Amino acid sequence: MDFINEKYISELLEDTRLNDRSLQKDVLKRSREAKGLTLKESASLLNITSPDLLEELFHTAREVKEKIYGNRLVLFAPLYVTNSCINNCLYCAFRKDNSLLKRKTLTIDEIKSEIEFLVRQGHKRVLLVAGEHPKKSNLQFIHDAIDAIYSIHLNGGNIRRVNVNTAPLSVDEFKILKSFGIGTYQCFQETYHYETYQQMHPSGPKHDYSWRLYAMDRALQAGIDDVGIGALFGLTDCKFETLALLNHAFNLDDRFGIGPHTISIPRLEPAFNAPLSHKPPFAVDDSSFKKLLAVIRLAVPYTGIILTTRERAELRREMFSLGVSQISAGSRTSPGAYKESQDIMEEHEMEQFQLGDHRTLDEVVKDCCVLGFLPSFCTACYRSSRTGDRFMELAKSGNIGKLCVPNAISTFDEYLIDYASDSTKKVGGDFVTKEIEKLDGVTKSKTMKMLERVESGERDVYY
Ligand code: SAM
Ligand code: SF4
Repeated sequence: MDFINEKYISELLEDTRLNDRSLQKDVLKRSREAKGLTLKESASLLNITSPDLLEELFHTAREVKEKIYGNRLVLFAPLYVTNSCINNCLYCAFRKDNSLLKRKTLTIDEIKSEIEFLVRQGHKRVLLVAGEHPKKSNLQFIHDAIDAIYSIHLNGGNIRRVNVNTAPLSVDEFKILKSFGIGTYQCFQETYHYETYQQMHPSGPKHDYSWRLYAMDRALQAGIDDVGIGALFGLTDCKFETLALLNHAFNLDDRFGIGPHTISIPRLEPAFNAPLSHKPPFAVDDSSFKKLLAVIRLAVPYTGIILTTRERAELRREMFSLGVSQISAGSRTSPGAYKESQDIMEEHEMEQFQLGDHRTLDEVVKDCCVLGFLPSFCTACYRSSRTGDRFMELAKSGNIGKLCVPNAISTFDEYLIDYASDSTKKVGGDFVTKEIEKLDGVTKSKTMKMLERVESGERDVYY
């Protein structure tokens, strides 16, 4: 745990000089350059409480998000392949000691039918999620699962990027995982606070804080360029957790020349028969949650921020503009739950935690357009080797938008033609027209040509 400097973070949180209005205003001014912040500057912004400065913080986060990412929101769905687990995390329904949870590991045929369901909804990106289990979720199984996911093609629709959220591996195992054709490897530290970590993870391999903390080092050493970090908010003080999460991001950037591709900010949700989750020890209210999102956006302007359907629809809407760049939609958190015949009680007895946003992909997509966000189903970057430092270079030079906007528009158009309901087609179609009008001459004509190809029946059009 040597690079998470608990002592320094605690000192920053106790330093009353960082609770100074003129300092906070200066930091906000500097944030507008979208060059990132130090830990100290981030700590000063986390101290903001006055409504006017809080509004200025949100406004600045909106500006920076718009500058780097524009109004795009990338969509994905999780796929839970097993809820068997040998760990005992106090907050999770999948914990080993939860004898009331119905255990299920999908067969390859079941994985294929889940993917058929997701492809029929219009999804192009899947996040494969698994409990940690030496037999049920070993590397061979993950390999077969990923192969099964990529194998499904339905009328031009298919999953084009599989990200994974699984237990940490050794360098050699990560090399094998990379060879399966994954996009991002995600693993959340849950809490960076060492003592709290030990309490929350009383047994199993996950008890080892350092093995988990250095997972991203090993993944990067193994050549996985895109790694996603995160913390489970609610386990310890959220200001501490935010600074430690940023500490991790800065540290990866310093040592490997690439920061994390994404940061996830799950909040602890109620989980079936989990001792802790119905009463988070450090519950994070909505206002603090929005504040920490805005601070992360300003501290690491080029890192994607993921928000899942754990959160309620109304809050998700507010958070889109504060810096979120990827969202899940139409999600289920138990293995096999996408199958339309799933009985709702049975699903509850197998799910990881309760969801806050139950809307379908179509409803979320339409809502994004109404709110002025462009839904993107793009998966071009990693298939064009724009990962790791190559992605960062493009992002930092301001050029990623030139590629992403046309790709977002063409994949969204594909979604509208193939999957959208009539009302979403109408709202989405008008939205696409407006988005094209905003483009400069060259990008506009490139995008128009891509749209012509999509509309004449070609699929997976990107550059
Ligand atoms: N088992 C692996 C692990 O723990 O890293 C990967 C999958 S685990 C299902 C994915 C994530 O779910 C965890 O990292 C944790 O942050 C999140 N999670 C677990 N219980 C949760 C809860 N009650 N509310 C919200 N998120 C939760
Ligand atoms: Fe297992 Fe992951 Fe749930 Fe912990 S969070 S019990 S490791 S599935």
